[in-house]
Amino acid sequence: MTIAYLQPDTLSLALRGSVQKQNLLDFDREAFEAWFAEMGEKSFRATQLIKWIHQFGVTDFQQMNNLPKILRQSLEQNATVENLQVASDALSADGTRKWLLQLADGNVIETVFIPEESRGTLCISSQAGCALDCSFCATGRQGFNRNLTTGEIISQLWLASQLLDKDSKPGRKITNVVMMGMGEPLLNFDNVVRAMRIMMDDFAYGLSKRRVTVSTAGVVPAMDRLADMLDMRLAVSLHATNDELRNKLVPLNKKYPLKELFQACHRFVDKQKARYRITFEYVLLDGVNDKPEHARELVRLLKGLPALLNLIPFNPFEGSGYKTSSAKAIKCFSEQLHKAGITTVIRKTRGEDIDAACGQLAGKIHDKSRRSRRFEKPRFGMKQ
Ligand code: SF4
Repeated sequence: MTIAYLQPDTLSLALRGSVQKQNLLDFDREAFEAWFAEMGEKSFRATQLIKWIHQFGVTDFQQMNNLPKILRQSLEQNATVENLQVASDALSADGTRKWLLQLADGNVIETVFIPEESRGTLCISSQAGCALDCSFCATGRQGFNRNLTTGEIISQLWLASQLLDKDSKPGRKITNVVMMGMGEPLLNFDNVVRAMRIMMDDFAYGLSKRRVTVSTAGVVPAMDRLADMLDMRLAVSLHATNDELRNKLVPLNKKYPLKELFQACHRFVDKQKARYRITFEYVLLDGVNDKPEHARELVRLLKGLPALLNLIPFNPFEGSGYKTSSAKAIKCFSEQLHKAGITTVIRKTRGEDIDAACGQLAGKIHDKSRRSRRFEKPRFGMKQ
């Protein structure tokens, strides 16, 4: 990969201090090596910088004491480690923690940490808002502003790691990352892939491939591209079992209907040699997609795929127009899937008291799509 975000001409200018300083959070290993090659530096400097920034959380170049003084000065003049600003930090009664993070342009995105007994999962946003407009999702309602840069994506992990490190309680470490926050990750493909490479770099966060999950509503061409490029886990936001219903719940389905989506899932599994199961996310909406016939359709769709099904009780938000399925309907639905041999998990709602549950995130997006004007009292949320 070349450093697409800073072309050589621009790079020379940056090195002469004529343009804005380069944010080193935008760099994965390959980009660092290319940058140092331009500077006439050895490629091992990439490892040193990655360790300082991501493993030790150091942003002051003068503290990087294994770098030559002249290089530290050059970094000082030409580069920066620019993190997002924490606008608020909320802790739920169940231990879930949610940060509102302000971007330089005034948009506010959200990141959520969900601690469990044996792991800690960080849910990261990939876009400011979302263009896909899923009808049950509050993020979709707030409209869309722009893609996040690699630096803005990885900064969420950098900040959460630092803030959780200060917390001495056990079970407060990040062991898993899911790209399931605000936005459709595969519509911000290059920046998301670069950020995931940093997450999995042994000298940065060292997360194993099975602990990094990217979620998609079904951007079929990007699913194929992803399978060719990167080894990690995939989650598909399904939510409906036939095209008529999915067109209403997930409008992207009109472009990539279920048949194409499932063909892409099979190709993905073939390319990854079935190392990991695909997770299918299914929000249960009362009387909409939670009936026995939907469970039967779901069994047919998942047949032959190594799949894990996550059933998510809908988290209501003002003006959504949907209701949470009854406990009985959720149990019946789950049992039908179990009986058909599909591994099914009913996800517990976490962080509801701080609006951090699936579908409840609150951000502040300068909506360019004007979609939010359709709703009287827009509320914000996260990808299901
Ligand atoms: S569910 Fe995901 S893809 Fe759909 S609008 Fe919400 S954030 Fe976007």
